[in-house]
Amino acid sequence: MIMVGENVIGAGPTDLGGISYPTGHIIIYDSYPGGSGTARMIIKRIDEVLKISLSVLTHCTCTDGCPKCVYSPYCGNDNHYLSRKNAIKVIDAILKGVSSSVSELPTGGSYD
Ligand SMILES: [Zn+2]
Repeated sequence: MIMVGENVIGAGPTDLGGISYPTGHIIIYDSYPGGSGTARMIIKRIDEVLKISLSVLTHCTCTDGCPKCVYSPYCGNDNHYLSRKNAIKVIDAILKGVSSSVSELPTGGSYD
């Protein structure tokens, strides 16, 4: 979502940072101290970002994560916990407006 979002609004590859949790919660923020407004621009186009992200994920032919879909050279966890399959579940649920309790959300990677 970070890479897609940066492309949608024309931002640079390090303008945003982010973290995702095994609960499915996703936090995307400005990389610059004090903020640059980049994350706010993403929120205004979040439906487009989510739909393109889901397309990237569903069209990738890897097993469960690769540099084409969920891996990032900027990942602070060295991409250990990123899962293409779980990312599809989370983004699909967001787009469908599914409200779930934490226990119903997919868990990922080595947290399984
Ligand atoms: Zn992939």
